[in-house]
Amino acid sequence: MSNSNSGVARLTVRLGAIAENYRICRSLAGRAVSGVVKANAYGLGAAEVTRTLLAERCETFFVARVDEGVALRPVAPAARIFVLDGARAESLPALIAHNLTPVLNSLDEIALWSRGACGRDAAVHIDTGMSRLGLPPAELAVLSAQAGQRLSGLNLALIVSHLACADDPASPMNATQLARFRAALAALPPAPASFASSGGILLGPDYAFDLVRPGIGLYGGNPHTGHPNAFKTAVRLTAPILQLRRVDKGECVGYGATFRVGRPTALATVALGYADGLMRALGNRGVGAIGGHKAPIAGRVSMDLVSLDVTDVPGDLATSDAEVEFLGDTVLLEDVAAAVGTANYEILTSIGARVPRIHEGAQ
Ligand SMILES: *Cc1c(COP(=O)(O)O)cnc(C)c1O
Repeated sequence: MSNSNSGVARLTVRLGAIAENYRICRSLAGRAVSGVVKANAYGLGAAEVTRTLLAERCETFFVARVDEGVALRPVAPAARIFVLDGARAESLPALIAHNLTPVLNSLDEIALWSRGACGRDAAVHIDTGMSRLGLPPAELAVLSAQAGQRLSGLNLALIVSHLACADDPASPMNATQLARFRAALAALPPAPASFASSGGILLGPDYAFDLVRPGIGLYGGNPHTGHPNAFKTAVRLTAPILQLRRVDKGECVGYGATFRVGRPTALATVALGYADGLMRALGNRGVGAIGGHKAPIAGRVSMDLVSLDVTDVPGDLATSDAEVEFLGDTVLLEDVAAAVGTANYEILTSIGARVPRIHEGAQ
């Protein structure tokens, strides 16, 4: 682990760990594994992540927006790219021109695609309990009763549903949704099926069907909050120390003077702030780490800066050219999320655009 100060904050993305996490998904699921690379691969870099997964012989990718699919097409010219947002009249030309496969969310979308895309592939999303996207039960009933007619204008490439509580293996929602998905599959024409996100993969082979859809697990996040993490850490967020100072007992630190020094204190001012995705809610709660030693955040997080109390970090480590870790092997993604009452997903997708992504192991 390098401790040298690169002079700027950066997000190091370990492509080797992402490849390993992909292989973990494959061995857990025992089925085909897609890559969910929406939102710029959860902030890590969709192109680099996609190339890494292609090298693992991944053939299927999911994005949320049509524009994400358009941007991904040249990276993965031969892959299947599903667009979770579905199809609308405005997006048909781009979907067709870039050979993107919509995940259709309603009878109306099925009709639209059948009329506008003449026989092309589509997925159909069945809502089994999340009440977010997909055909609700009443539309599923119509589709299954009139499948011949309503599906004749497209090629049904995949039937999809999504778990609401995959992060909690104890939730009864998982079995409820599984039963509803099986019933839906039995009522529809035969087609490959996809049900499990990262958390669903960990629920066991019953949830795997033909194609699993991991996102967070590929990126090293723990899909099952509060359980041991099956996946390898894939990101490190680090920033340089700009200044070291000693302050006397009674002095205050940062905006609002919310941290009052109770002893002679060594402070490090670090070039990372909430504009970089270091949540402001981490003020007086979060930590940074120098050479594996945690140091508490002192006072509020500013837009561009944060102060750490490095009094208890060995002096030879807390130097002006040290690099501070805010996410990685010492400061765990899940601990940061818990400290501010959010999910690992939001921590990753909040990392600021001005933080350069450094892809380790890029080919
Ligand atoms: C985002 C998403 C996924 C990936 O979920 P993770 O929990 O990140 O593994 C899978 N399927 C759908 C429909 C999604 O929206």
